[in-house]
Amino acid sequence: MRIYIKNLSFSYSLDKRNKIYALDNVSLQIEEGEFFGIIGQTGSGKSTLIQHLNALLPLQEGQLFIGDFDLSKKDKESKKQLKELRKKVGMVFQYPEYQLFAETVYDDVAFAVKNFYPEFNQAQITQRVGDALTAVGLDYNEVKSKSPFELSGGQKRRVAIAGVLVVNPEILVLDEPVAGLDPMGKRELMQLLHSLNTNNRTIIIVSHDMDEVCENCSRIAVMESGKIVKVGSAEEVFKTQADRLSLPVTARLKNTLSKAGLQEDLPLKTNEFIEAVANLRNKKG
Ligand code: ADP
Ligand code: MG
Repeated sequence: MRIYIKNLSFSYSLDKRNKIYALDNVSLQIEEGEFFGIIGQTGSGKSTLIQHLNALLPLQEGQLFIGDFDLSKKDKESKKQLKELRKKVGMVFQYPEYQLFAETVYDDVAFAVKNFYPEFNQAQITQRVGDALTAVGLDYNEVKSKSPFELSGGQKRRVAIAGVLVVNPEILVLDEPVAGLDPMGKRELMQLLHSLNTNNRTIIIVSHDMDEVCENCSRIAVMESGKIVKVGSAEEVFKTQADRLSLPVTARLKNTLSKAGLQEDLPLKTNEFIEAVANLRNKKG
């Protein structure tokens, strides 16, 4: 499903004369199957933007379509369809493990299936829970009866993601998915997200880490004070020596090389960057 956002503005303040906009005239299109990154400093509006995608925040001004679903419609029929929308757009909040609550991993992951599919029987629920835990790289038989609190930080986060994945969303949105994990845990979780970016499932991550989005996302939107100031590939977004934007390591290296006279158009994903530089060296000696 395509996401289409046009001139979206949003304010948390109720004072009509003194409105401060958390989102200011945002337009953005995200295609089905993309691995999309949203970056920007704290307070730039990232979380506010993504909370519109499954109507956790009401649409105030502008247009927002998720596939054919028009979020500006407020009639009864549209409200009924909200549940359908939320099946399709899964939202993983920041530090989602804090929201684990059930006594067992099984019950925690089963919660959303029971909620969204009240017609499911026990076997169907178990099937979904098993599939979701497997998809996040956990051993179903090993973890199903454990308390979530017996698990490591990284495992807890996987359980929390399984709790969203279990509904089989077409779009998975994650707010700072690797925040607080160690480097190894970060890398593994990112690999997991890539493995979920299949069958046309769209992955959207919010991050304030330039290297993370540069390394993982096919397109990136940069937010500043409620506005989207840039959208494009890592190479496009980090092309100019952005003043307020700290750059990924590869972009900084590229700038250094460029100052030394090497004006090549280098890719910014680390592996590709190293390969391109090695090739240049071979070529130029
Ligand atoms: P980010 O996720 O990029 O850190 P947010 O979307 O959380 O940014 O915040 C954007 C702006 O909206 C900030 O100025 C923030 O203070 C404000 N804001 C966020 N949530 C609320 C809220 N629940 N009530 C009032 N203001 C809020
Ligand atoms: Mg945020």
